[in-house]
Amino acid sequence: MADIINILPDSVANQIAAGEVVDRPASAVKELIENALDAGATAIQLIIKDAGRTLIQVIDNGCGMSEGDARRCFERHATSKIHKADDLFDILTMGFRGEALASIAAVAQVEMRTRQHDSQLGTQVTIHGAELIDQSPCTTPAGTSIAVKNLFYNIPARRNFLKRDSIEMAHIEDVFRRIALPNYNIAFSLHHNGRLLYDLKASNFAGRIAALFGTGYSQRIYHIEEHTEVVKINGYIGKVEYAKRQRGEQYIFVNKRYIRHAALSAAIERAYNELIPQHTYPAYFVMLDIDPSRIDINIHPAKTEARFVDEQAIFAILRAATKKALGQFALGCELEFNPSTEIDFSPAQKGYVPKAPTVSYNPNYNPFSNAMPKEAERAESGRLFAVPHTELPEREPVTIADEPVEVSTRGRFEIIQYPPYVITTLKSGVVVIHRQRALERIHYERLIATQEAGTPAAPQQLLFPVNCRFSATDSQLLTELIPTLGGLGFVIAPLGNTNFVVSATPPHVKESQLQALLEQTLDDYRASLLGRTAQQQNTICISLARQMAAHTSPAALLPPEEVQQLVADLFSCAAPNVTPSGQPTMCILSPTDLAEKMK
Ligand code: ADP
Ligand code: MG
Repeated sequence: MADIINILPDSVANQIAAGEVVDRPASAVKELIENALDAGATAIQLIIKDAGRTLIQVIDNGCGMSEGDARRCFERHATSKIHKADDLFDILTMGFRGEALASIAAVAQVEMRTRQHDSQLGTQVTIHGAELIDQSPCTTPAGTSIAVKNLFYNIPARRNFLKRDSIEMAHIEDVFRRIALPNYNIAFSLHHNGRLLYDLKASNFAGRIAALFGTGYSQRIYHIEEHTEVVKINGYIGKVEYAKRQRGEQYIFVNKRYIRHAALSAAIERAYNELIPQHTYPAYFVMLDIDPSRIDINIHPAKTEARFVDEQAIFAILRAATKKALGQFALGCELEFNPSTEIDFSPAQKGYVPKAPTVSYNPNYNPFSNAMPKEAERAESGRLFAVPHTELPEREPVTIADEPVEVSTRGRFEIIQYPPYVITTLKSGVVVIHRQRALERIHYERLIATQEAGTPAAPQQLLFPVNCRFSATDSQLLTELIPTLGGLGFVIAPLGNTNFVVSATPPHVKESQLQALLEQTLDDYRASLLGRTAQQQNTICISLARQMAAHTSPAALLPPEEVQQLVADLFSCAAPNVTPSGQPTMCILSPTDLAEKMK
């Protein structure tokens, strides 16, 4: 029998190892920028073409490399950062595995130019798929420029596996923000296909947040600070009224490194308990300073997870600090909020529509009682609001899930309003309809129909076009989505910078909610791009429908005609019994159910 074991050639071994470090353009971006930071750069430029497929280039003004190092840095386990195993426990530098450049060079065509500050001449190195093509002296600015071209050119399977440009770019921006936020004292820029997306000057933390998320952002956050032996906390947390349905801007950094940590996130979020509606999430940008010897951050190759020796204590301190900040500011002691001089507290620009607060109504408000009964008391009081008998058109039989329901042919229906429910009868029983969810379904199907028709049926022209302003990220995404939104009845035109003018919307979009509605839609869409939501398809329609439905206060009584229309509209939907995201819109009590209850 012949031997059957082969030793893999180096090139193959490198490619396999590369897959672990570089799985998509964003991970190469992360490694290159982290190297630039480790090199002590104060200005870092990121240049991307075709979402990183064609080009990822990082230019820094850091220490640069000697001629010998310029070649050696591409070898596996080449690192200037660890000399002995003990150094592994020190996470003060970003990279420490000496694998990144070797891995990247194994799966791309890399051109590097580098010069140390005290050298006259620099070095230029070209490597294609781990093979040295050329090394020669060159003139180049002090620092290092690494251009990674045609990523995965030699691994077609992986190249084909890359997602649409918008998705890969969303990941790159995610990485960029995670690094740029805690390194606020360093200038960063990001170009994509020749367009400058971010130009971040050296600043303080608040200034960097504003530069990334929009100047108006500074009005949405509170400062948080706590210094203890175990941990130093410093950062910003979102005001309760800006909690969102997506976990959007949630950042925890440990020693200036972004980490994901469920328990720490929970510590912050729990402090918001009761203060924000269920299933909404606060924004936070929190930096923790912890003694590196009390952390093990190397438990995950992507290094976004960490373990802490004093986890319990850190958790408790973080939660208390968050509570304190929320309590302090909620009580109106905002005078203490003096985070920086760079924050823009100037009044919003003319035409800027502030985001509507999302907790401005009390869902339990009962316009017919003096007190504000709690959910349970109200249910007990059993106050029903009857709507006069109404004529409803003959309706087609409706199929509800696997339980077919025959619609009464009497033609007369009693509809009772019991906010947030509407109650009516079908042949098969008593139907309790959740008004807001019903509206969600109705709006959703209309939006889908509009989209499929190709031309918006009846866009609602605004008497006065509304100006909206977004963060740099949102602006870019919005620009991409203008055609899609156009197909739904929005007429949006860029005004330059991050300003847009909206001159028409689908029916039922309230002008006052426009800015908030678009922001939330962009958030939801981004979350779906990054695969954070289950529903990838029709995210935009789902998001819009939900927001349009949420605009009427759940406690309000509607005029009888409107309720009638709502019931009729709901039953003419293709799938009346669930919301687009799968929650029930109604429940039916059949005669059998009722008989059961009456026993
Ligand atoms: P690691 O960062 O884990 O050491 P890398 O493969 O990312 O491994 O980099 C290898 C070495 O190349 C680094 O240790 C550093 O000495 C050098 N290097 C990489 N990028 C730069 C840069 N932008 N400026 C200066 N030196 C760099
Ligand atoms: Mg590195």
